[in-house]
Amino acid sequence: MRIAFPHMGNAYIPLKALVEELGLEAVVPPRPSQHSLKEGSKHAPEFVCLPFKVTLGDCIAALEMGADTLAMVCGMWACRFGYYGRTQHLILRDLGYRFESLLIGREQIGEVLEKLKNAVGRGWQKKLARALRLFRAKARAVDELERMAGEIRPREAVKGAADRLLETSLSRLEAASTLKEIRKRAEEARTAFLEIPLSEGPVARVRVVGELYVLLEPALNLDLVRRLAWNCRVEARPVLSTYRWLLHPVWLDPKLNLESYWARRKARPYLPQVLGGEEHMTMAGALTARREGYDGLIHALPLTCMPENICRTILPELCEKLDLPLLTLVFDEHTSPAGLDARLEAFADLLMAKKGKATREGRAHIRVDREPPCQGRKRNFA
Ligand code: SF4
Repeated sequence: MRIAFPHMGNAYIPLKALVEELGLEAVVPPRPSQHSLKEGSKHAPEFVCLPFKVTLGDCIAALEMGADTLAMVCGMWACRFGYYGRTQHLILRDLGYRFESLLIGREQIGEVLEKLKNAVGRGWQKKLARALRLFRAKARAVDELERMAGEIRPREAVKGAADRLLETSLSRLEAASTLKEIRKRAEEARTAFLEIPLSEGPVARVRVVGELYVLLEPALNLDLVRRLAWNCRVEARPVLSTYRWLLHPVWLDPKLNLESYWARRKARPYLPQVLGGEEHMTMAGALTARREGYDGLIHALPLTCMPENICRTILPELCEKLDLPLLTLVFDEHTSPAGLDARLEAFADLLMAKKGKATREGRAHIRVDREPPCQGRKRNFA
């Protein structure tokens, strides 16, 4: 079996480890780019959401690289994500590609296990348990490293230092094949992150809420987090993470499921129905942003996203009540980096002015952050 899966941020590192630990081959397509987006857009329905087009482009690239099985999560949610796998695989077969589908969902779990059992052979349960442990450890380490890089990036004295370290640490982590090795490499990376020299000057903090794929895939959000850090000295923290996306559906970390439950409860007065996306995390993220020390909120979504467009109608009034500056960014394949930069810089100016005023007036809830929160804090990886 040569299995491929679409990209989403650095999710390919734990997913590749999972597949290889089962003794199968993982085919990782190149990172999403304008080319894969163009390929996907050519064959996707025009008004389908942007993540569908990009992931379709990834599937085409993987099949061209010789993948014989395409894996995708599926389900029956109100939003379109649950139907991505089935629809994309139909389109690809119409284009003439021949492959096996591995559609992972609650309804198909028996079928998926049967296919894995046949491919992995004797002792498949033991191999699966070991592969899941490795998958979890790598997912957690990737998440931690990304978080530290995100905290240091807007404060670093030499532009690009955090990213260079992140890149080397991730490739070392990708090569790690045991739990012990993962722990060791993650710990080394942590120490190295804390040694990066920092510059003087205030940094604003914004929480980024919205659609999962736009939040986590830099190719889709035009590198929003880096742009904010480098051009505007703003630390942007997405409310969702790759770790959460990977582990939440398989219950490998019950803390994530509890978090989701609380987010749904918090969002209920505004959204009594489940819309099928991450709308509860968007609403809960906005409601708790002030208390958790954020200076503003960015709501990022793809043009035709149903759940996030509903949140979009609620957030302006809510943020006004919370005295929380809000910037809404809608992405599609025509979004231009220059237009995005102009909006981000204007938003950052507003945040800094507000922060300066609040500090002069001695309002304690707005902090002037100079040090990344990870400094001086003991963390455990894996
Ligand atoms: S959350 Fe939005 S963008 Fe994502 S699949 Fe659902 S409708 Fe599409």
